[in-house]
Amino acid sequence: MIATKENKIAENSIISQMTTFNHEQLVFCQDNATGLKAIIAVHNTILGPALGGTRMWMYNNEAEALNDVLRLSRGMTYKNSLAGLNLGGGKAVIIGDARTQKNEALFRRFGKFVNSLAGKYITAEDVGISPQDMVWVNMETNHVAGLPGKSGDPSPVTAYGVYVGMKASAKQQFGNDSLAGKKIAVQGVGHVGQYLVEHLTKEGAEVYISDIQEATLKNIATKFGAKVIGLDEIYDLDMDIYAPCALGATINDDTLNRLKCSIIAGAANNQLKDEAIHGVEVMKKGIIYTPDFMLNAGGVINCYAEVKDLSAKWAMDKAEEIYKTTTTIIERSKKDNTPTYAIANQMAEERIEAIGKVKLPL
Ligand code: NAD
Repeated sequence: MIATKENKIAENSIISQMTTFNHEQLVFCQDNATGLKAIIAVHNTILGPALGGTRMWMYNNEAEALNDVLRLSRGMTYKNSLAGLNLGGGKAVIIGDARTQKNEALFRRFGKFVNSLAGKYITAEDVGISPQDMVWVNMETNHVAGLPGKSGDPSPVTAYGVYVGMKASAKQQFGNDSLAGKKIAVQGVGHVGQYLVEHLTKEGAEVYISDIQEATLKNIATKFGAKVIGLDEIYDLDMDIYAPCALGATINDDTLNRLKCSIIAGAANNQLKDEAIHGVEVMKKGIIYTPDFMLNAGGVINCYAEVKDLSAKWAMDKAEEIYKTTTTIIERSKKDNTPTYAIANQMAEERIEAIGKVKLPL
């Protein structure tokens, strides 16, 4: 169709935003009785149903919520593809205050909207959502993962994936994958960070930890014999490996001038403040950046095991494949002189394209 003044989609329209990264479907959910205001985004279902958590957040405005759900759902397509799962990418956001506005009716109403997609979208927990909230969602739909008593806390699987990926990066950077004697700083020793510290100290690494929670910090330092380092001081530590396991965007203009490490490998999402800038800068500095969405896929692997009724052992074995994927990404990055994040994106796209060809003829 030729774009005319009448039929041309306005550049800032919602459908136009969907076309930018080829999102398949958006569902706007509104209900006066419960006060529910939510958006479900299905980015891509070529590999399978779109799986991704629901985030509850007090967005400043609808445009912010829409932008977040579009960005996050696309991220899930890449993560699920690269993890080798038969899952597409999706995400949901509920606009509201997770501390004061949660109740059974709200989540059951949301569950009805999830159910209306008939399995095209599978939800789970994300920021602001607890397993109890998912129990309410589950009263209205079976398309939920992360329920209590099922696959359980994903953090041990996530931490194991980060650990094996870190070893694979060490092999590429230092010639062997032993982490014994390596100086490693783990930023954030919450759910994932503490399991990671356990793996690292067991292997004989010299582990430094930081966290804003003093009690957690002391507890983990004592339990695993890790050394405590200041919240900001961590960026100046002369270390082999920096493992961000708390916040996003810690690889930025400021920290890149300070970081003295050979590898960056951690669980936090969106570690590069700006992929196109900082993903290139890390490579120029000779640091191996292990792409976060590939390294932290243990969480979604755990969800997939729950959805497909697979064992905990299956999930750990699948997370172990992160070693091989890390190796492939770093080798391709060196060969093509291209940043690791870009190679990871390419590999995710290649799989979707290849499987798309298999699925076309019915
Ligand atoms: P968590 O909330 O349990 O732990 C995060 C820890 O970081 C907390 O102890 C917090 O006090 C600490 N922290 C916050 N700000 C800090 C700062 N400025 N400096 C140092 N520490 C700080 O979260 P988690 O489940 O362990 O997840 C960690 C990261 O990994 C998050 O970015 C999360 O999105 C990502 N992730 C987690 C999983 C999973 O399975 N839990 C899966 C994929 C990705």
